[in-house]
Amino acid sequence: MDLWFATGNPHKREELAAILKGHRIQIPSPGGGPGEAPLEPEETGETFLENALVKAKALYRRVLAPVIADDSGLCVDALGGRPGIFSARYGSEGGKNLDAGERNALLLRELEFCSHRSARFVCAMVLLLTEDRFFAVQETLEGEIVREGRGSGGFGYDPILYLPEKGCTVAELTEEEKNRISHRGKAGRFLAGILSSLP
Ligand code: IMP
Repeated sequence: MDLWFATGNPHKREELAAILKGHRIQIPSPGGGPGEAPLEPEETGETFLENALVKAKALYRRVLAPVIADDSGLCVDALGGRPGIFSARYGSEGGKNLDAGERNALLLRELEFCSHRSARFVCAMVLLLTEDRFFAVQETLEGEIVREGRGSGGFGYDPILYLPEKGCTVAELTEEEKNRISHRGKAGRFLAGILSSLP
């Protein structure tokens, strides 16, 4: 099936394309023409799932074809689940847009004196087939926040989430290993199963 993926993040597109092999995954071009639905709608939801649906519906209105959208982030228990749905904007409250390295450094500083370091990536993913017909899933990848970032793979918070069962951070996994166990990988495979069972 031809699917649109509501993201501007090429890393996320690559991850999903590897998971949904056999389906053609397109991402919308940035900008968009006059009268087109915004590519990055305001994420007005209070949960990952609500925001995934907001993104899916905005793109669906533009392409009028099946859409996949996700909303994901890092939830740190000692921070009451922050940065959570605000993961992409964490640390940018003062107006300065931090890059991933700066965000990771800020989070490590926030947890400097904290011994309770459990955290997880969360991914809500929606397959929207028509305006009113969708399938949704939410998955996690459990880990612990490191004291010092490690690894150069992946993106975002990957260098600071340590996986005790693997003995490394997410950024030290190969792309295939990450896809096998990740929040996005598990959610994507669930939707791949839905897609293959559709009449
Ligand atoms: P989204 O594009 O609105 O879903 O924002 C997700 C943000 O959460 C990203 O910009 C990253 O900062 C973070 N994030 C989500 N998934 C991952 C992951 O697999 N690795 C590292 N960071 C992630």
